[in-house]
Amino acid sequence: MSEAAQYAVRDGIAVITLNNPPVNGLGNALRAAVMEHLKKAEADAAVRAVVIIGSAKFFSGGADIREFSATRLPPDLPDVNNQQDSMGKPLVAAIGGFALGGGLELALACHYRIALPRSQLGLPEVKLGILPGSGGTQRLPRIIPMTEAVRMMTTGAMISAERAKELGLVDEIVQGDLLESALAFAKQAIGKPLRRIRDQKAKLDGDPKAFFAQVREQVAKESKGYPAPLEIVACAEAAATLPFDEGRKQERVGFDRLMKGTESKALRHMFFAERQTAKIPDVPEDTPVRTVKKAAVIGAGTMGGGIAMNFANAGIPVTLIDMNQAAVDKGIGIIRKNYAATVAKGRLKQEEMDQRLGFIKETTKLEEIKDADIIVEAVFERMDVKQDIFRQLDALAKPGAILATNTSTLDVDQIAAGTKRPQDVIGTHFFSPANVMRLLEVVRGKHTDKGVLATTMKLGKTLKKVAVVSGVCEGFIGNRMLEKYGQQSLFLLDEGATPQQVDGAMAKFGMAMGPFTMYDMAGNDIGWEIRKRRYQERPDFVYSRIADRICEQGRFGQKTGKGFYKYEPGNRKPIPDPDVQKIMDSYRTEIGAKPRAISDEEIVERLTYALVNEGAQILEEGIALRASDIDMVYLTGYGFPPYRGGPMFYADTVGLDKVLKSIEGFQKGYQGAQWKPAPLLVKLAKAGRKFNE
Ligand code: NAD
Repeated sequence: MSEAAQYAVRDGIAVITLNNPPVNGLGNALRAAVMEHLKKAEADAAVRAVVIIGSAKFFSGGADIREFSATRLPPDLPDVNNQQDSMGKPLVAAIGGFALGGGLELALACHYRIALPRSQLGLPEVKLGILPGSGGTQRLPRIIPMTEAVRMMTTGAMISAERAKELGLVDEIVQGDLLESALAFAKQAIGKPLRRIRDQKAKLDGDPKAFFAQVREQVAKESKGYPAPLEIVACAEAAATLPFDEGRKQERVGFDRLMKGTESKALRHMFFAERQTAKIPDVPEDTPVRTVKKAAVIGAGTMGGGIAMNFANAGIPVTLIDMNQAAVDKGIGIIRKNYAATVAKGRLKQEEMDQRLGFIKETTKLEEIKDADIIVEAVFERMDVKQDIFRQLDALAKPGAILATNTSTLDVDQIAAGTKRPQDVIGTHFFSPANVMRLLEVVRGKHTDKGVLATTMKLGKTLKKVAVVSGVCEGFIGNRMLEKYGQQSLFLLDEGATPQQVDGAMAKFGMAMGPFTMYDMAGNDIGWEIRKRRYQERPDFVYSRIADRICEQGRFGQKTGKGFYKYEPGNRKPIPDPDVQKIMDSYRTEIGAKPRAISDEEIVERLTYALVNEGAQILEEGIALRASDIDMVYLTGYGFPPYRGGPMFYADTVGLDKVLKSIEGFQKGYQGAQWKPAPLLVKLAKAGRKFNE
């Protein structure tokens, strides 16, 4: 008998126990075992009902995603579902924990479903750019109201057992021993007529045409050109208007189409990329980690406050330190306001807010870091200030404490050099707003101890971040690439584009926002400071001076009401400003540039390939461990559209030869000398290879 699922008979009831840890993924072995056991139960006259049960935590987490790219061996899940449909004995799914995707489809092909109160049910396929491909789109709307079914499938959100019971997806919520309850439930079902979901009508009142026209419009708006949700709506409509088997056929066609599409490949890439970031080749998984039970954050400004919230949210007591009481009060005030806003939205309970605030201790005395297991410095971005703090930390921190810096541009090794314990120093580059953004760049210094790195990566997980390792270089992975992107965005203005045209093209490509909206939001003065430094240090790195002209007029962005756009008081909506046009016109005259019409396509290529080319450089230098890490940085920190898989994956889908050819074309254009194809890109393009292989 197969190990992936066990078979036993108790009091005339067959029990099929799914046994494919950790999540009861429906890989080939498990599918084959379930199929074999179902047939056996059907053939055995002594068996009068069947219970399918999983583990305490997972009924089943669904399909084994690794099998997606391979040829699937029979039996496939639809074959198993067909077997379930053909059974002449009641089938009961006993759901403890999660029933997701294919796992829920397996349960939907049973006659009954019972669940424990803590169980969660969902069809999250949409998150991977596909749809429930084994009858889910046809069965779910036949058992719960269509509106709810569409919502569950297009958002991929899970529902609780209680909600599932209300909707009719679960027949009974049971307490105590799940198997015993399932056996009792199965026993009373013996002899009753078998109700298959496939034989029911979809739960939709009124005219399907009108209903789906409205749903389609709504979903199209929310899904922004990403195809899976609309394909799901089409299948749901088929469930309401076609016989079951016809609907199943449509579902299969839609599933195959999505599976082959770039969007789904990108989302699956993202799924695996996220799991890769924690793997560091020379730091084995069993590297001993240090305990992190107490934290301290120095600097209660924009970043420090957000970072402290991360610790508090994870239940780690944190001491928040600033230079004077006014600065501390200001920081705590903002933290309080942030939590209160979440409470007002109903996403946090007042008691939870109070509890989290209780984890944050405020002070102006640096010596209070003495008990902390990790200290995160988030003071002004100046080497002398940071070095001075680290010298003091060296004297005050307990032995073995991790000394982390949130610097976004400074050399972590130089900061570490001022201490007697450079092995304990590491960069933790949080992104703004730090309590919201998922990305955490973990900067590994020359002397950073492997245990310190492993501990910080683990802490990232505890803080619910996507922690990506970066080597030391100016800007690390994300901002170093962004500088090239920014450089091109401004060159485009020199050549005749407007901020709104560039932003529009990038938003259409799928970026959360275009570059000029982003600069105005972050504050143009930050980039100005960096450029002023660059003019001295790197005269080879040429900038358009339009951004300087903008800053010279005090147009620092949203905070001053004017930047590359203008803003109405209290409103963040960027409005094109004729004054910016004048600044651009006069600068173009000054440099003798004749404005030309620039296509959206060129804008997208110039900006994304600027990221890709620098990404290739970063990869070759070993600053990033792998191409998919660079993708994760952009997906989680810079608003790159998930269904494009990150810049490196996007380049792979375009074809590296094409990317290289475009870059070679740009070399002949405006400021062409600023384009130097990265040797790794050239090498891979010539060999017909990809960044993510
Ligand atoms: P901020 O100006 O908002 O806050 C800095 C805080 O540090 C201030 O409250 C200041 O009073 C305090 N401070 C300065 N010197 C101190 C000292 N000696 N002891 C105690 N407190 C001191 O700055 P920020 O935007 O929060 O940036 C902090 C760090 O984070 C910088 O290194 C910055 O480069 C980095 N960073 C910023 C962002 C961002 O978007 N703002 C993003 C990532 C990283």
